[in-house]
Amino acid sequence: VKRSILEVAVDVPLPTVYDYLVETEEPPAPGVRVAVPFGNGRRCGVVVGHRVAAAVAGAKLRGVETILDERPLFDAEHLAFLRWAADYYHHPLGEVLGAALPVRLRRGEAALPLGEAGWRLTAAGASVDPAHQRRAPRQAAVLAQLREHLGALGHGTLTELLGACTPTLRALRAKGWVEPCRVKDPPPGVALPEEAGPELTGEQRRAVAAMMPAVAGFAAFLLEGVTGSGKTEVYLRLARAVLVQGRSVLVLVPEIALTPQLVRRFTRRLGDCVAVLHSGLADREREVAWQKARLGAARLVIGTRSAVLGPLANLGLVIVDEEHDPSFKQQDGFRYSARDLAVVRARRARGGRGCPVVLGSATPSLESLHNAGAGRFVHLQLHRRPGAVMPTLALLDIRDQPLEGGMSRVLLQALEQTLAAGDQGLVFLNRRGFAPVLACYDCGWLSDCPRCDARQTLHATSGLLWCHHCGAQRRAPVRCPQCGAHDLHPLGQGTQRLEETLAGRFPGVPLIRIDRDATRRKGSLERLLNVARAGNAALLVGTQMLAKGHHLPRVTLVGVVDVDGGLFGADFRAAERMAQLLIQVAGRAGRGDATGRVLIQTRYPDHPLLRTLVQGGYPAFAAAALAERAAAQLPPFAFQALFRAEATKPDDPRAFLEGVAALTIELRVPEVEAWGPVPAPMERKAGRYRAHLLLQSRGRPPLHSLLRRLLPAVRALAGSRRVRWSLDVDPVELL
Ligand SMILES: [Zn+2]
Ligand SMILES: [Zn+2]
Repeated sequence: VKRSILEVAVDVPLPTVYDYLVETEEPPAPGVRVAVPFGNGRRCGVVVGHRVAAAVAGAKLRGVETILDERPLFDAEHLAFLRWAADYYHHPLGEVLGAALPVRLRRGEAALPLGEAGWRLTAAGASVDPAHQRRAPRQAAVLAQLREHLGALGHGTLTELLGACTPTLRALRAKGWVEPCRVKDPPPGVALPEEAGPELTGEQRRAVAAMMPAVAGFAAFLLEGVTGSGKTEVYLRLARAVLVQGRSVLVLVPEIALTPQLVRRFTRRLGDCVAVLHSGLADREREVAWQKARLGAARLVIGTRSAVLGPLANLGLVIVDEEHDPSFKQQDGFRYSARDLAVVRARRARGGRGCPVVLGSATPSLESLHNAGAGRFVHLQLHRRPGAVMPTLALLDIRDQPLEGGMSRVLLQALEQTLAAGDQGLVFLNRRGFAPVLACYDCGWLSDCPRCDARQTLHATSGLLWCHHCGAQRRAPVRCPQCGAHDLHPLGQGTQRLEETLAGRFPGVPLIRIDRDATRRKGSLERLLNVARAGNAALLVGTQMLAKGHHLPRVTLVGVVDVDGGLFGADFRAAERMAQLLIQVAGRAGRGDATGRVLIQTRYPDHPLLRTLVQGGYPAFAAAALAERAAAQLPPFAFQALFRAEATKPDDPRAFLEGVAALTIELRVPEVEAWGPVPAPMERKAGRYRAHLLLQSRGRPPLHSLLRRLLPAVRALAGSRRVRWSLDVDPVELL
């Protein structure tokens, strides 16, 4: 028996790795989980290295309690990548490794045995379409789950997903559709389905041809393709080529629920080697997918943000779809950008030889366009939309216009014509609820949130006042809480109110509202979209949920009710977000055989960026916006790190950040400027006061070397215990 000293990263918000003693023949390798005593408790940690015993001789070390894995869960390349990420974002390694693990493994539970007893589809069962089993919904559900999971599932996972289902399984077995089995990994070399897919357009062919030679090493591509130009087809060809070579593929998407079409296409075309990894999965399901990716049984992983931290055996290609989407940035805890890490992961893949990464979007982020301009990314474009024309954009000046429920006469008439032609109209407003505020006309009372510097939104169907920032709810009062008058009025527009106005104006026309409230129940989004796809004349009302990749072939007119909020947002990225959202919404129009029209209501028809967007499209807008950023020395022409602090006492966050600012001055790094501290744009949120300190530099290295020296001193600051604070490297939101 040998005594060894292990370096263990423990999942706690502290920046150190800890030494523990272990007495075994063979000490556990890096990447193995161990249970260790920590403080007065017990924690799960990951071995990240071994120490030479002499270096810590004499120190009193505690022993490892249990070695949890026989083999490492992280291989050397994966571990090195996560170490890099922890270092870059200045975040504790233990928490980064924790974020990369499925929940059960993170808690220290034993890994699920992959050879678990379970059930699989027989050949007869595989040919049954669950959708046709209406009269036996339980059986249909079991069949659908088995199909989704490569034809086989463990008994435990099935029960977790569907509840107890032994009688259902017995019935299915009697029909000869399922049989018991041990759930094993499919062999790594599963054959790809034959289907070749549609013929490529000239542009698609050129894009594929430009990328194909790069599959041997690292290369970054920005694939800018207008909505409907067929970026997915390009992804599929590339993925297929990489899979054929026996390597694996990672596809990152903003939100699985909003991109079911993309997921379905990958699954249909590339078949059994696809695993989907996202937070909507049950814990066990997620762990199985994670393990399959680690063992190389799932060779194409489609996932949201956190999938970039997961294991991938023999990585050969990374794709980030809708790369501009802000949801790729984690907004709490370990605040990483999945898009940026995707590029790093591709560069470090295959022992440093690298693999290609493709960032795709109809509206690329200014960061990525800047990287393309500087030659770091290869810029490929798809301008044409096969079989359809791009929609036309026009501004509607609504100054001095009478509005009906926020909509001008011109917009309402255009909707009427669209309906008369048997087409569909889409009315876009990025604000759910009935009205953003309830007001008393007698005394001026407003429905302020008691916990935030914000108003509570009125939700008419539930009769609630609801704060969209902290979630606080209360019954909407009938009389003014301040003066008792009955003169309460909703002010402004939300999607529920638009729906009500349109229902009054166009009686008998089917109305489909799509926002978070209308799609809370599982499957409801798909159901609403199917109604829209199947129907004839109809009106759709929705928030940005409608802007994502849904195909709505019957929509020929899009009305944007209010674009002005995006022109003057507190965040310097507000205009970029507004433009991206507008172009994405516009992309819904005219995807079938009809040309689309987009009418944008504004009180600022002369706003330069808005005019540029409408006249020159997104590329012209992006060029103008980048020039503005360069002139103002803002990202991507500068690098930022944001300290946020919050506390229940109003003065504490500011006092703490003043201490941080003083420390940065002491460190004397002239390339880095410190702005603040200032109150956050919404100073009070959920009952806590918040302040910001922004550090900015022309270059990355001075900023990061400053942070490295600064953080130990910040942790030791006297006020650091009175506030909750965090550091956000490359913040994408300054709110
Ligand atoms: Zn009142
Ligand atoms: Zn609130």
